[in-house]
Order: sequence, then C-alpha cells, then structure tokens
Amino acid sequence: MVEGVDLHTHSNFSDGTMSPKELVKLAHDSGLTGISITDHDAIGAFREGYEYAVSLGCMLIPGIEMSTEFQNESIHVLGYSYDPNSEILIEACLLHRKRREARNRNMIDLLEKKGMKISYDEVVALSPEAHTYGRPHIAHVMVQKGYVESIQDAFKKYLGTGKSCYVAGEKWATSDAVEIIHQAKGYAILAHPHLISRFQRVRELMKLPFDGLEGYYAQFPLRDNKRFISLAESQGLLITGGSDFHGTIKPHGRLGSSVAPDTTVKILYTRLQEHLA
Ligand code: AMP
Ligand code: FE
Ligand code: FE
Ligand code: ZN
Repeated sequence: MVEGVDLHTHSNFSDGTMSPKELVKLAHDSGLTGISITDHDAIGAFREGYEYAVSLGCMLIPGIEMSTEFQNESIHVLGYSYDPNSEILIEACLLHRKRREARNRNMIDLLEKKGMKISYDEVVALSPEAHTYGRPHIAHVMVQKGYVESIQDAFKKYLGTGKSCYVAGEKWATSDAVEIIHQAKGYAILAHPHLISRFQRVRELMKLPFDGLEGYYAQFPLRDNKRFISLAESQGLLITGGSDFHGTIKPHGRLGSSVAPDTTVKILYTRLQEHLA
C-alpha cells in the first residue's frame, strides 16, 4: 500500500496507457488519497475523471506538464490547480498540439528515409484516445511494425534526444509556460529538476516566477534531491512530488512511488475549491 497524493501521472490522453478513470481507480485501490493527472500539453483528463474521483472519495487535482525550452535545454513545467475552464490554457494546448503534429510528421519523414514507413494515421489509430501525440506513440507503431523490439529500443536507436530521427520541435519558452499557468490561476512548478543538466541552470530557472519545484520524483534517491528541496525552502517555494507514472509505457515510476508533502496538497486543494465555487 502507498499513501498520500501523487502529483505526477500520465493518462492515455497523452502518453500514458491508462484512461483517466482507470488511473483514478488504481490510485484509490492502491491507498492513495489522490492524484493529479499531468498529461503532456493536455488538460482534458481532469474533466473526464473528476466526478468519478469524487464518487470514490479520491482527490483529483487539475494538472498539466508543458514542454518548454530554456537555454537550448528541454525543460518540463508542471501546472496545478489552474481554472479547468481557462480559455488561455485551452488555447495554449491547442496551439502546442499543432506544433507537436508538425514535429511528429518531421520525425516520421526521417524514419521513412531509413526505410521505416509509418503514416500519421497509423500513429493516431494505435492511440485513438490521445489528445497529444509524441515520440512514445510513434515508437509504439515502430514496435507494432517490427522495426524495433521495444519502445526503449526505438528511443535508444532513433527517437532519443540527439538520435538520428529526433526532431526538437518548437516549444514554449519556459517563462511563457509559467505565465500561461499563472494566467489560468494555477501554480507553476519546475518538473524533475535533477534531470536538468546543470545545477546552476536550475538556480537560473528558479529566478523565473515559479511557485515551486518537484522535490520528490519516482524512486529517485532523496539524498540527490536535498539540494533542490533546500533551494525551494530558501526561497519559500512549494515542494511537490510524484511518480511520473505512465502505465506500461515506461518501466520505472510505480504509481505512488513519490508523493507530495501534505502542506502543498492543502494549498493546491484550496485553490481548486476556489475555482469550483
Ligand atoms: P515527446 O513529448 O514527444 O518529446 O516525448 C517525451 C516522452 O517520451 C516522455 O515524457 C516519456 O514519456 C517518453 N520517453 C522519453 N524517453 C523514453 C525512453 N527512453 N523510453 C520510453 N519512453 C521514453
Ligand atoms: Fe511522457
Ligand atoms: Fe517530464
Ligand atoms: Zn511526466
């Protein structure tokens, strides 16, 4: 059994394998008090799962994970307890979906040049529930067609950052994503800071008007995260936590393997109640 609130999960509305309701059910059955579904550049999971979560007595916090860029590095920004009806955020997701489609088509073109023929329709057909598509969905088709042995294999050989069929794609500036989340009346959080190449860059990022950082992540050893937690505490910022659970698509990050501090959950829950009032 696990307990607490896991603030970082993905449903099949982006690149997870479970539907929002299945995710809520699994969280509840596992003993979690609640979750946030932080799909990549998509917010529909909250609306889909909220009534069901309430019926189970499970807390569901609106979430999103936005793809951004800072000093040429890919940076993920988490947004929480935004107004679920925010037009600004809905528009931002639609715009980014178009950017993603252009990028996906470019990657598919590069794969075709290597003899791996994939159509965009095949990508969509294999993951019909998704609102945003990305590399995991393309990798899934590659496995299906026998071009690679596994999704990991597709990333290792072709789609991983810097590999031959990788395309960076147009992203938000990190500061823009923070601003969009604020305009949607949510909290902007720097995701998995330990994955950022240099600590100095994390310091610079935290000069942006972030509300906090993700201090607890999957099974990442706590001793490595202490400096991020200290950084957040020294600035009086929120500390969040979550597993980055994706279902079966990613082997690591069991649901509930990291959870958020209760103080943070209270703040996020209070803001949500204000939006729903
Ligand atoms: P994209 O949003 O298209 O850039 O794809 C990034 C997503 O791919 C991440 O959020 C992960 O879910 C997934 N991913 C990244 N690296 C790997 C990997 N080595 N194996 C499986 N999934 C991965
Ligand atoms: Fe993902
Ligand atoms: Fe991420
Ligand atoms: Zn994530």
